[in-house]
Amino acid sequence: MNSKKRGTLILYTGSSGVGKGTILAELFKRDDNLRLSVSNTTRAPREGEVDGVQYNFVSVEEFKKQIEQDGYLEYAEYCDNYYGTPKKQVFDMLDEGYDVFLEIEVKGGIQILEKYPDILSIFILPPSMEVLEHRLNKRGTEDAETIKKRLEQAEEEIKYKDRYKYNVVNAELDKAVDEIMDILKREKSENR
Ligand code: 5GP
Repeated sequence: MNSKKRGTLILYTGSSGVGKGTILAELFKRDDNLRLSVSNTTRAPREGEVDGVQYNFVSVEEFKKQIEQDGYLEYAEYCDNYYGTPKKQVFDMLDEGYDVFLEIEVKGGIQILEKYPDILSIFILPPSMEVLEHRLNKRGTEDAETIKKRLEQAEEEIKYKDRYKYNVVNAELDKAVDEIMDILKREKSENR
């Protein structure tokens, strides 16, 4: 039997290219009790992405089957692909005492906030839209059309930032990581 206290679920969101993944990689280096929920997606893997690590890459048919079986905590269609959080995997990790990050886009985040209004929620913001555009271009993983779509999407998404308990600006990586570590420490001590 695992006697560890149940972990904390953390809703973590922000627009594409804002640096969510880079921040998370740093957080995971600093705290080995953190886990990431691996989502299902119908998007094609990017170069270097491994099935089961960044995502479970599934067909649209498989994705829809999971929806019918009520297998998702939330899901959303984002820029022509489906993304969803598998329920069982998240609950198992929480039961094992891990703190679990749900790294999802903003609309899926709103679904989670409606289901769990008290959840610890963090919205990552770019220092400006110009910086976001620059980062998306620099990443070089999307074509011009996709980048345009993602920037338009970002403009829409930022309108929801106040629904999240914490807004963290990713201007400097280390500072953003420190800020989130402080948030986690504070929230966990309050809930002890
Ligand atoms: P990307 O294609 O860049 O990996 O992800 C696109 C967006 O989908 C990102 O904002 C990412 O956080 C979000 N996303 C990843 N997994 C999920 C998920 O399970 N549910 C939802 N709603 N969004 C997700």
